[in-house]
Amino acid sequence: MKDSTLCIHAGYKPKNGEGGQMPIIQSTTFRYDTTQDIADLFDLKSSGYFYSRLGNPTCGFVEERLAKLEGGVGAMLTSSGQAASFCTVLTIAKAGDHILCSSSVYGGTFNLFAVTFKRMGIEVEFFDQKDSNDKIEAKIRDNTKAIFGETIANPALTVFDIERFAQIAHRHNIPLVIDNTFATPVLCKPISFGADIVIHSTTKYLDGHAVQVGGAIIDSGNFDWAKSGKFPEFTEPDDSYHGLIYSETFGKAAFIVKARVQIMRDIGICQSPQAAFYINLGLQTLPLRIRQHSENAMKVASYLSTHPKVEKVIYPGLKDDECYELGKKYLKDGLCSGVMSVILKGGRSAGASFIDHVKLASPEVHVADIKTCLLHPATATHRQLNDEQLLACGITPGLVRLSVGLEDLDDILEDLKQALDAV
Ligand SMILES: *Cc1c(COP(=O)(O)O)cnc(C)c1O
Repeated sequence: MKDSTLCIHAGYKPKNGEGGQMPIIQSTTFRYDTTQDIADLFDLKSSGYFYSRLGNPTCGFVEERLAKLEGGVGAMLTSSGQAASFCTVLTIAKAGDHILCSSSVYGGTFNLFAVTFKRMGIEVEFFDQKDSNDKIEAKIRDNTKAIFGETIANPALTVFDIERFAQIAHRHNIPLVIDNTFATPVLCKPISFGADIVIHSTTKYLDGHAVQVGGAIIDSGNFDWAKSGKFPEFTEPDDSYHGLIYSETFGKAAFIVKARVQIMRDIGICQSPQAAFYINLGLQTLPLRIRQHSENAMKVASYLSTHPKVEKVIYPGLKDDECYELGKKYLKDGLCSGVMSVILKGGRSAGASFIDHVKLASPEVHVADIKTCLLHPATATHRQLNDEQLLACGITPGLVRLSVGLEDLDDILEDLKQALDAV
């Protein structure tokens, strides 16, 4: 089935006489008849829900829908997008390991990778995604466990050459992890270009209405952990499950099962059923919304790019954007989401002044919302980064991140025009 159908039907099929809408199973626990039934669940010999930290039916419906949309074998919801990248890395890497990550990533990801993982003994090295294969491959070591990038980077708005990096990763027997938050599975399906694991901040377009923080991890099932030879935690016995071997017992689903029964069990950054229900509501209209967000944004980007107070608009839908060709390759119908970066002439103070003068658009630490909103990264999300790190993330001091909403286009344009007049 196609995306618009999957978004409404995949994962939940009501039986005769059941509610048409996905039920919220607001329960921490699940009842079984015998101690043997429960023992089999704990030994991972049978599948079923037993405690909502490890899984819940409402979350399960949404997980199956996301797995179908991304073309994976399984998915797991997490409490946030940050939790999704945290769980993903901990499932495949441990102290002493090394990860390669594009420098064009979300500020929160940058902090998690560069600061927190470092304290935990996992070293993350950043690369410029424009670098040649040779230069990138020279950074891959024996202990390198993954390559990480964002389909459309937040807020650099670069488009990741998924196919090229999948080939690099696979030449070295390591998985490619893609954060597909901005593109959503409607605009890009990273697995179809060779990505092994896809993660989301569902807080953005998947929810789409700014009501629920959440995350998700989807396993393509395509990475062969045993054949790679680099992942002993997948191929050697796990003492916390009586010596179970993930790659043997769970085959193609080894990664997503390990993420759940080992990392989620121990860390507990799970999604609640109520939250999953909100994500479900958002998902149902995702194809309609992301198309309209993208169409509005394309017109806003064209308008702003010719405005005399604007130095540059970074949006992969613009013909002179450095990622225009990559956008055409990876993003469906050339739709590039609602998010763009606007660099004002006059640097930091002009950026701040623009935000202070908008009336309809909301200054918010959020993007991918039904409402038009905007933010000055240098003084907000990225304020922990020094100038050098900012520039490495593709952010200049006058850059404003603009997320175009679903209001009438004329009203959005008029608001931006009056705010620019006042700068
Ligand atoms: C927002 C965001 C995250 C973090 O997600 P949270 O849900 O805020 O934890 C990760 N990656 C990208 C691309 C994001 O935009």
